[in-house]
Amino acid sequence: MYNYGECEICNTPLQERNIQQDFWLKDKLVVIENVPAGVCPRCGEKVVNAEVGEHIAELLKDSKRIDKSPTISVPLIKYKVATGVV
Ligand SMILES: [Zn+2]
Repeated sequence: MYNYGECEICNTPLQERNIQQDFWLKDKLVVIENVPAGVCPRCGEKVVNAEVGEHIAELLKDSKRIDKSPTISVPLIKYKVATGVV
């Protein structure tokens, strides 16, 4: 088990979790599952170690693998400020 140390923001000891992390590749959103990361139970800050970071970079460069991967659909909403409402 990797020791992630303490959160840089609030100094709470980070807990090891497998998280989903999303990345934008130009106009394509890619989600990687089961990423081992240190997560702050207090503020939600996420940290990955250097080895994991490198592996993620490799996965994101593998466009063939990305093209073959299953896709999910996500809600797409427009940001629109309601007028006349205070
Ligand atoms: Zn924190």
